[in-house]
Amino acid sequence: MAKTYDPNNVFARILRGEIPCKKVLETEHALAFHDINPQAPTHILVIPKGAYVDIDDFSARATETEIAGLFRAVGEVARGAGAAEPGYRILSNCGEDANQEVPHLHIHVFAGRRLGPMIVKG
Ligand code: 5GP
Repeated sequence: MAKTYDPNNVFARILRGEIPCKKVLETEHALAFHDINPQAPTHILVIPKGAYVDIDDFSARATETEIAGLFRAVGEVARGAGAAEPGYRILSNCGEDANQEVPHLHIHVFAGRRLGPMIVKG
């Protein structure tokens, strides 16, 4: 069953210009901005402009153009931050077990330091 999108989530409000963000890149299909609570020297969020709850929803419903647009933007943001070398990490939390806080798909781009292990063992 399709997930219900909350049009008042904080990233939807950023997309509508109702609350500010520190913009990094805007394209036809994506917006990138600095995370308000950075976990690394570079911590940028890349979001699709369309109303998608998470990567599950996006991968099921988005058009090829939207998917390409989002991931082209991720690469462009990372290159623009000078992170292609020595490297960076992308991450997208999906749902409750992943502690997703904001119910609009976002790709985190972390860079600027050694990022440590991929995940805490549990
Ligand atoms: P999640 O846990 O959903 O993967 O990540 C949500 C991210 O959104 C967090 O890293 C959090 O700091 C960031 N965030 C939450 N509210 C805002 C906001 O109003 N502006 C910006 N720029 N980032 C936000």
